[in-house]
Amino acid sequence: MHVTVDERTCEAYGICAMTAPEVFEVDTDAGHARVLDPTPDPALQPLALEAQQACPVAAITVTTGPAGDGA
Ligand code: SF4
Repeated sequence: MHVTVDERTCEAYGICAMTAPEVFEVDTDAGHARVLDPTPDPALQPLALEAQQACPVAAITVTTGPAGDGA
């Protein structure tokens, strides 16, 4: 799994950080969210996908690979 945030699209709503605080944080000074861990533990995948779907401006991309690839 690989997680990215498009910082130009992000409007800093913070939904991602509330949904998956292990993966995202909002940098209020910069005005956008940041990915804390671009390759989070696979156990966090459901939350990362939930954050992706919850983002109002679709700034989050979660790429999932085959199980066990460590991606
Ligand atoms: S939910 Fe989307 S718009 Fe809101 S902080 Fe996260 S990436 Fe940015």
